[in-house]
Amino acid sequence: MGPESASARERREAAVRAAVRDGLVDARHPVAGLLDVRGIREAVAALRAAFEEVAAPGTEVLHAFAVKAASLVPVLRLLADEGMGCEVASPGELALARAAGVGPGRTVLDSPAKTDAELREALALGVAVNADSRQELARLDALVRSAPTASVLGVRVNPQLGPGSIGAMSTATETSKFGVALRDEGARAWLVRAFVERPWLTRMHAHVGSQGCPPELMAEGVRTTYELAEEVNRAVGEQRVRTLDIGGGLPVNFASEEVTPSFRDYARLLDVTVPALFDGRYGLVTEFGRSLLAKSGTVLARVEYAKSAGGRRIAVTHAGAQVAARTVFAPAAWPLRVAAFDAEGRPKEGEPVPQDVAGPCCFAGDLVAVDRPLPLLEPGDHVALLDTGAYYFSNHFAYNSLPRPGVYGYASAEGRTEDFPEGHGERGGPGERGGPGERGGRRFGPDVRFVPVRRPQSLDELVEESGGTLAPGLTALR
Ligand SMILES: *Cc1c(COP(=O)(O)O)cnc(C)c1O
Repeated sequence: MGPESASARERREAAVRAAVRDGLVDARHPVAGLLDVRGIREAVAALRAAFEEVAAPGTEVLHAFAVKAASLVPVLRLLADEGMGCEVASPGELALARAAGVGPGRTVLDSPAKTDAELREALALGVAVNADSRQELARLDALVRSAPTASVLGVRVNPQLGPGSIGAMSTATETSKFGVALRDEGARAWLVRAFVERPWLTRMHAHVGSQGCPPELMAEGVRTTYELAEEVNRAVGEQRVRTLDIGGGLPVNFASEEVTPSFRDYARLLDVTVPALFDGRYGLVTEFGRSLLAKSGTVLARVEYAKSAGGRRIAVTHAGAQVAARTVFAPAAWPLRVAAFDAEGRPKEGEPVPQDVAGPCCFAGDLVAVDRPLPLLEPGDHVALLDTGAYYFSNHFAYNSLPRPGVYGYASAEGRTEDFPEGHGERGGPGERGGPGERGGRRFGPDVRFVPVRRPQSLDELVEESGGTLAPGLTALR
């Protein structure tokens, strides 16, 4: 473990302790998300440095964060503060990027199912668009004819390189639903012609896959994309394709504190695999999500009960499928480290005992870890699901009407200590007296300072979201 990862762990443990002490996690809010602000800033700095090290001076690089990995406005604003843009894939994600103040020139719209209205809005705003299919390109033809646009327009290609280890995360298979399948009969020639005939088509995009795809496969996809761009530019007789969007997908090590592969490893691999990529002729766009945030997030939950069944120890906690759907439903693909803390939020000592870590949902498979050796968990203890900063806070599963938990950013209180601007993210609804959301960004204790990123969903909000104000509706029909 390097010194940096050790300090990330120290920061996390201090935050857990402070979160318990200050009641961010308590009987009324038995689960919460914690985000390490310094860890996030360091991850973005590492990404930028990695590309600066290999790219010719003056190369324009837009690092666009894949919003689906953490669809939280304050997170997008923090990333923008570090120089990032946003990659969005729905009207909702575009609205979040705009709410975070990310400008259209720093926003990229990808999605295999963009409607006419979405495309029109993107072009009116000047948001970059990567067309996913021939039919979408035909829609862009009509829109570009009807009104001028500042949008950079491109096409997503599927290099059809095959899968990584997780099928659902592999976007460059033979039969993937994404992009123009490059190896299909006639596709390459069609695509080159499409660029030749459209002076406004200036970007080539590929995103080969996410978690489970080896970096070598991703780099191969970038090579294919680069070579296609070169072919287009030769056919046009000038540089028609000006930017390459190389997607995201760098895998995360969920097994230890170690950050492997690093952004530097990947940038160097790209430099070796596609040396001309960085010679300064092409502007570059990246779309990383998981690798930027995973290591900086923790789901912290109370242990409600500890029981045993058929000789198996089971800790019943408040972190289950509602916050960790992928881990619960596909545990082999999405294992998580679980750390044990005591009732005061201190790392729990004791002989590891194999036990199941169960969630609160009413189905038997709601387990985030099975037979996991951990100090024996007792009621009132806490468990932390580690490396959950990406996807786990943004893909809540509403099973059993469990509310979305609050999310809090943390930093050492030695940093800025002034209060967070009033009204920022706080709202004390009924049943939220003294709730964590009301504490704003004031210092909670001597060592760690929290700011709310998302308030815990209240029961009133949950009822409303579930048709509460429409209660009599169905009874009016016979
Ligand atoms: C999901 C996605 C990303 C981000 O993938 P990560 O594995 O989170 O880095 C980037 N680009 C596109 C098109 C995506 O769908």
